[in-house]
Amino acid sequence: EAHLKAIEAVNPQINAFITVTAEAALAAARAADDRRAQGEAGPLNGIPLAIKDLFCTQGVRTTAGSRILGDFVPPYESTVTKNLLRDGAVFLGKANLDEFAMGSSNETSAFGGVQNPWRRRDNQGVALVPGGSSGGSAAAVAARLALGATATDTGGSIRQPAAFCGIVGIKPTYGRCSRWGIVAFASSLDQAGPIARTVEDSAILLRSMAGHDPKDSTSAEREVPDFAAACHRSVKGLRIGVPAEYRLDAMPAEIQALWDQGIAWLKAEGARIVPISLPHTKYALPTYYIVAPAEASSNLARYDGVRFGMRVPGEDLKDLYERTRAAGFGAEVKRRIMIGTYVLSAGYYDAYYVKAQQVRALIRRDFETAFADCDAILTPSTPSAAFASGDKQDDPIAMYLNDVFTVTANLSGLPAMSIPAGLDAQGLPLGLQVIGRGFDEETVFTVGAAIE
Ligand code: GLN
Repeated sequence: EAHLKAIEAVNPQINAFITVTAEAALAAARAADDRRAQGEAGPLNGIPLAIKDLFCTQGVRTTAGSRILGDFVPPYESTVTKNLLRDGAVFLGKANLDEFAMGSSNETSAFGGVQNPWRRRDNQGVALVPGGSSGGSAAAVAARLALGATATDTGGSIRQPAAFCGIVGIKPTYGRCSRWGIVAFASSLDQAGPIARTVEDSAILLRSMAGHDPKDSTSAEREVPDFAAACHRSVKGLRIGVPAEYRLDAMPAEIQALWDQGIAWLKAEGARIVPISLPHTKYALPTYYIVAPAEASSNLARYDGVRFGMRVPGEDLKDLYERTRAAGFGAEVKRRIMIGTYVLSAGYYDAYYVKAQQVRALIRRDFETAFADCDAILTPSTPSAAFASGDKQDDPIAMYLNDVFTVTANLSGLPAMSIPAGLDAQGLPLGLQVIGRGFDEETVFTVGAAIE
């Protein structure tokens, strides 16, 4: 009830939720009370969560932030949300996001932007973006409208909004969580993960979300460890890699200072700092912005006005497709479809898509080599704090550059977490990123908890 009241009071201003399921939430909370009374409480019994509106929820509208799915009500539940319900979680509603999770500011949502609950010290009036694409999830947790949230991360969409909103977000290893029932953006990069206030909260949520699922052939048949226990281990003796290539020329001094601070903290706790090299880092953004749109253009072909969601009638079938997609998709989604279709087309496939896949292999190999010398890698999460709404909206390249530190973990499938680590001169939160070996989220949690 307290969370629903907070949503009622604050959501009209920050727009973190697209759909609030108040009645269902209250009923689920009462059922959780009953389970507790009967001694049947699961690990998340009664915990109120926001669900990114990219997870299909049975009987509850799931929009993906798009007009084309504006009234889509899935007849099934995603595996991740099903796992959370199994453990007793209560869903408050569906969180706002960039359309089809394409964006870094939540400004591409067909349901309006989300406001970051934080304000600059010197200008309280300027609305800041919460980051994206999981902007609603991050803002809801930061504004205390939910105890935690689900999110997805294709190129940084969990970690970057977590950093901008001063909270914790982890993208686990590719395959750790089932993608079944999550609206697909780029299938070889998409991973679900939690956003929460603390490292340990995110560990508890991830344990419930994760696990093998026969319905997703890329989900891993691995035991899910007790991530929360890893939050209480010492970093003593761990080798922390610091990659030279993440020291960008144009990086603001306060980001560099934050990074140095994180290094000093870990050193003081007994970790060993190791300089490492990830030589193909400079190709990561162009590689990501070829692979992701290529897969997106293919995944989004299913929205044809016949099988899902919105339909605009036409003179014939082709006309119906064209009218539906013209009216249903927003500008950024159309840009991605065009880029993706171009790089996959016969004349350009080898020059762009195949080349990008080759560079992706080199980026992955960089990490394999580096992890021979270290147990985890420390970098900043983002090259800046949250920016003002509208600031980068007309400049897609400036927007894409925001993902410079996050896309490498998706291209290589590795687990990575953003931890709030300090404030900039304007009092805005900044995050540090910890990247781990594949399926070694435990070390990421250990290092994250030491930074927190
Ligand atoms: N900002 C990146 C993009 O626009 C990442 C989005 C994501 O991780 N879903 O593609």
